[in-house]
Amino acid sequence: MKYDVIVVGSGISGMRAAIEAKELGANVVLITKSSPSANNSFMAKGGINAAFGNMGDNDNIFQHINETLKSSVDIGNEESIRIFCEQAPAAVRELVGYGVKFSRLESGKLAQRPFGGSKFKRTVYASDETGPAIMKALYEVIKEYEIEIIKNHMAINLIMKNNIISGITLFDEESQKVVVCEGKSIILAMGGFGSLYKNFTSNVKDATGDAIAMGLRAGLKAMNLEFVQFHPTGLEGTNFLLSEAARAEGGKLVDENGDSFVDELNTRDFVTRAIFKEMQKGKKVYLDLRDVPPEVIDTKLVSIKKRVYTLKKLDPSKDLIPVTPVAHYTMGGIQTDVIGKTSIKGLFIIGEAGDNGVNGANRLGGNSLSQGAVFGKISAYEAIKFANKMKKFNGVDYYDITNDIHLVERLDALAKHVDANALRNEIGQIMFEKIGIIRTEADLQSALRRFEEIEESMETMQSDKPSTIKSILELMNVLMVAKAVARSALLREESRGSHFRIDYPEKDRRFKTNTLIGLGDL
Ligand SMILES: Cc1cc2nc3c(=O)[nH]c(=O)nc-3n(C[C@H](O)[C@H](O)[C@H](O)COP(=O)(O)OP(=O)(O)OC[C@H]3O[C@@H](n4cnc5c(N)ncnc54)[C@H](O)[C@@H]3O)c2cc1C
Repeated sequence: MKYDVIVVGSGISGMRAAIEAKELGANVVLITKSSPSANNSFMAKGGINAAFGNMGDNDNIFQHINETLKSSVDIGNEESIRIFCEQAPAAVRELVGYGVKFSRLESGKLAQRPFGGSKFKRTVYASDETGPAIMKALYEVIKEYEIEIIKNHMAINLIMKNNIISGITLFDEESQKVVVCEGKSIILAMGGFGSLYKNFTSNVKDATGDAIAMGLRAGLKAMNLEFVQFHPTGLEGTNFLLSEAARAEGGKLVDENGDSFVDELNTRDFVTRAIFKEMQKGKKVYLDLRDVPPEVIDTKLVSIKKRVYTLKKLDPSKDLIPVTPVAHYTMGGIQTDVIGKTSIKGLFIIGEAGDNGVNGANRLGGNSLSQGAVFGKISAYEAIKFANKMKKFNGVDYYDITNDIHLVERLDALAKHVDANALRNEIGQIMFEKIGIIRTEADLQSALRRFEEIEESMETMQSDKPSTIKSILELMNVLMVAKAVARSALLREESRGSHFRIDYPEKDRRFKTNTLIGLGDL
């Protein structure tokens, strides 16, 4: 299998990149770990930011830049933010061209709604189904362009020679074998690592930070992994979000005695910390919609009513709904330049998987979908430019493949006696309690010690619940990324954006910089 451009990941970043590459005449393939729709892009409901200024509030690109910079708490990269905000309106128009049916005003212009963190109505939406509307339309284009899709293949490692990318190894779930794809350039659009917080995340299960683990193994640096954005109200034990709309319509947050403990309309970070503090006291927290008129629930909170019943058999008009904060978006990733280029020639990392500085210490809600569309397009252009310069393929050596064949054999042996699911549950709990909303040095160190213990004891574990090779591959990546997140959080001895250290509760100008972690730091 040989291609000009290999795109890994079928979220908005990957699909947009693959479409651009095809339009520019490249021989391109789109590879994805599960099905093409199993990604966080498909989960997005709220909308996609672009400063059209359609709502008469004088929004413009300058305001978008300003608010994105502010949200990054002084460490966003001004150049990547400028490129992003300038290109976002064109990127959304292109999505319209690809067939996305966004909601419109009577005038015919794109409708825009307010979204957390912005003073402007900047978020373009398709009812409350923005992610599915975008992703279904892009998938139709992928099919129409006859772009090859390889699904149920998990990327394992990058292959390179003389610091130039050569290809990628994949684990084929069907044959259970390692296969190799050769490429003149590669774009990793493999999403973030929210799923490390298993049972405490809004993310799909595929979001295991594989790109970060692959990048670290290839000698790249991970940047700002300590910045993880939490959403205050996930439905306990599921990845379903009870959006701010529920509280805006009069929903209350109460403890198990029915007592209110926070102003539920305060900022996301504030409400999240208040809930977490209640949980630290051993209390459960609930969303109480019982005083919200049934007609409001039936018209404005329809999907909440439906999903709460399906997932928990609860009726919001009668029952308290158990909630917990959930890891929602991971700002850090593999360090890249402003458009997603890495220090390995021909390798690009975009979307939630990479960090080009566009979010800094916190993300403005609604920015990530447009970032995927903007940098998906730009990276494809750059990837083709690079591929065209390469007269021939860089070449893959026999040992590049045999290393991963041996790795999979070793993991196959582990899979027979290691319960990956139980370990992932434990890691999720540790991530939430010790590397989550409120952090301390002692907690971070104890989390690290436990991760190391798990790694060291895996060979001798004896579970009667065997695992799949894929789940052990993911576990290996999860442990590596979990350690990298803990190390990054230890290095940042201050509180900034989404990173809150109770032992260093203030912002400190000495840390107005990026945290970088390499494999040798773990
Ligand atoms: C519930 C929810 C609601 C959200 N709402 C909004 C919103 O309203 N607006 C907004 O802007 N953002 C929103 N976000 C954030 C946004 O959806 C994501 O940040 C964005 O879609 C990420 O896009 P991506 O292309 O980088 O990654 P993803 O969409 O996550 O795609 C990653 C892809 O990589 C694949 N992959 C991963 N590992 C491997 C591997 N080893 N091998 C092969 N393939 C692999 C996955 O299968 C997947 O196809 C929301 C997120 C969630 C979870």
